[in-house]
Amino acid sequence: MQIKADLHVHTTYSKDSLITPKDLVYYAKNRGLNAVAVTDHDQLAGAYKIAKETDFLIIPGMEVTSSDGHIVALNVKELIPRGFNAAETVTRIHKAGGIAIACHPYASFKGSLKENIYATFDAIEIINARAFPFKKSVKKATQTAERLGLSLVAGTDAHYAPQIGYSYTVIESEEANVEAITKAIVEGHCQPFGQPVSITLNLMQEFQRIKRMITKNPPHLT
Ligand SMILES: [Zn+2]
Ligand SMILES: [Zn+2]
Repeated sequence: MQIKADLHVHTTYSKDSLITPKDLVYYAKNRGLNAVAVTDHDQLAGAYKIAKETDFLIIPGMEVTSSDGHIVALNVKELIPRGFNAAETVTRIHKAGGIAIACHPYASFKGSLKENIYATFDAIEIINARAFPFKKSVKKATQTAERLGLSLVAGTDAHYAPQIGYSYTVIESEEANVEAITKAIVEGHCQPFGQPVSITLNLMQEFQRIKRMITKNPPHLT
């Protein structure tokens, strides 16, 4: 069966995201997705909590801050510590039962892996809807994936709910569950699609973030 999934979304379990679990499911359904991967920064518990509390198909994961750059780990059964190099992080992801994705590998301002991508990775995030510069990032990531023989995936890296679904991966999976989906990705039964998030939506995100900061910590008025 065909699964349409956004493989890179941050929720409020990441300090820098505005996406509540309720908004996550609402927008994912609204965009016609069948699944969404929750990949908060160096956190895993939130993803499993959301997966348990909703009937929507959630792929639990996290975005690991390795010393070489960010790595998305999907279907890991335990938290992967931050700060190890890319090669060691990938080994730990596999030991924890998961798959390793080199996310936004050539994007500027994002903690990107650049040349620290190896054949031990399972996939490369060819399209990251919030990568800058977008076209160049897609091109370089595609070349690296072809050179290393890795699967191609896409995700939004959404931190604001309306960004969800701008990029997505279509996966030919035997079943609609996390194990089958991640297995299909490793085997290359997947295709990336998508477009960059509009500037307006990125500005809206910043506006909402500042608004939240002010509401939480109102300036002291004398
Ligand atoms: Zn990242
Ligand atoms: Zn991210």
